[in-house]
Amino acid sequence: MNTCIFCDIVSDKAAAYKVFENKHALAFLDIMPATEGHVLVIPKEHGATLSDISEKSVKETAAVVQKVAKAVEKATDAKGYNILQSNNSVAGQVVFHVHFHIIPRNKGDGLSFSWKRGKLSPEQGTALKEKLHQVL
Ligand code: 5GP
Ligand code: ZN
Repeated sequence: MNTCIFCDIVSDKAAAYKVFENKHALAFLDIMPATEGHVLVIPKEHGATLSDISEKSVKETAAVVQKVAKAVEKATDAKGYNILQSNNSVAGQVVFHVHFHIIPRNKGDGLSFSWKRGKLSPEQGTALKEKLHQVL
């Protein structure tokens, strides 16, 4: 049987600094924080990626992300925050149970999320929009 560290935290088989939970979601401190107050929010339903869980879990977890992010802002006096959610190892995911990072931000905290900005051509824009419309 596969084990999942975040499922173990949900069921108290593994310890964590839990900061909030309801029937559908749980928030706890990240053990290797990027900045002080870094919290993870997870659905209690196990799923490796956002694409694998129910819409109900997504909605419930998103509501907890907002609630806890507001609390983290107040409690840490942060000037802002990032929400980060990675899917699959190619995107940097390490723990394969859906989770949202809430990362408090302050001037000079040394963190940066940057990428080289491309340019969307009219042809690419039209083709991609059509492709997505077909799939959706
Ligand atoms: P990912 O890279 O998958 O988006 O992030 C996984 C996060 O989970 C990392 O920030 C890591 O510090 C955190 N993490 C991994 N194992 C544990 C654990 O056992 N307890 C807690 N609280 N956080 C963990
Ligand atoms: Zn799990």
